[in-house]
Amino acid sequence: MIIELKHTSTETEKQELLKKLESLHTSFKWIAAKNLIVLPKLNDSAFLKNESCIERITETDTPYQLASVQFKKQTSFDVKGATIGNDAFQMMAGPCAIETESQIEETAAFLSSLGVKFIRGGAYKPRTSPYSFRGLGLDGLRIIRKAADKYDLRVVTEIMDISLLEEVYEYADILQVGSRNMHNFSLLDALGKVDKPILLKRGMHARVNEWLLAAEYILSGGNEKVILCERGIRSFDNATRNVMDVGVIPLLKELSHLPVIADPSHGTGQASRVEALSLAAVAAGANGLLIEVHPNPSKALSDSYQAVSFDNFKSISTKVETIKECLKTFSTGPESILKLQSF
Ligand code: PEP
Ligand code: MN
Repeated sequence: MIIELKHTSTETEKQELLKKLESLHTSFKWIAAKNLIVLPKLNDSAFLKNESCIERITETDTPYQLASVQFKKQTSFDVKGATIGNDAFQMMAGPCAIETESQIEETAAFLSSLGVKFIRGGAYKPRTSPYSFRGLGLDGLRIIRKAADKYDLRVVTEIMDISLLEEVYEYADILQVGSRNMHNFSLLDALGKVDKPILLKRGMHARVNEWLLAAEYILSGGNEKVILCERGIRSFDNATRNVMDVGVIPLLKELSHLPVIADPSHGTGQASRVEALSLAAVAAGANGLLIEVHPNPSKALSDSYQAVSFDNFKSISTKVETIKECLKTFSTGPESILKLQSF
């Protein structure tokens, strides 16, 4: 249950309501910044009808509440003039890791020439082996920020640890939570206090409920700007690096108001398959794509097999545009593709 208080409600009214809830011995979370109280369903909520400071009460049938579609139909927000969510579509691209100034400069110039508005690149990399390239750290953040500012791009970069929050916050426009950190609840709590968007990747073995509850950690901290990113889950079969769950895109649209993007690079782990998955994700209704692109893929210091070349990326972008145009001709969204196929 979500209780939304009137903006005109006084401090005394709020405190009195909170006291009443306390006396019920129920757990609840008061989100002062948003004037919201989130609590489990009450057995007897009749007394709330007499509370004049309440604007709206939402009952959800899901454990995640603020992330639910019952609470809100759609979310969109602005990142330095670029819209994320609703009907907007954003391409986010760049190398897995920031390696050199020239690599990022070249990539930024290329992306901006195609009209892409977001550059991605990790400065702090979570690597399976401690001996692999783990990123340039602060130098990397400086490099990507400089190139992004030069080409009017927004920076998407991973926040790997809570201790790096201040540093990454300063350089990033969107803070990425990696698959391995989706269950890092203290990090999620901290990101709830941040006023920049969070790109929340799906844990590689996370159920949709767990993923949306991870989003709920951020939302319940007061940060409404959460982007869900499907990047594939681990299955019994390792023929592809991960199994990108395309079906989860329309499912999330049914369950939540949050923007959903897809990462076909980690989703398949092989450059030759990134295009097919990109197109599938767009057709399924994704609000954007996160794609790893490198000026010289075979020389990439991390995730080289899945990095696409500039030429390849350009071709993917053109085809993505075609799919988007095609979707626009349907009046009811991606599901009408099925109707079209039956003709
Ligand atoms: C990445 O985006 O480079 C990355 C490490 O992704 P993931 O957390 O999905 O593995
Ligand atoms: Mn990567």
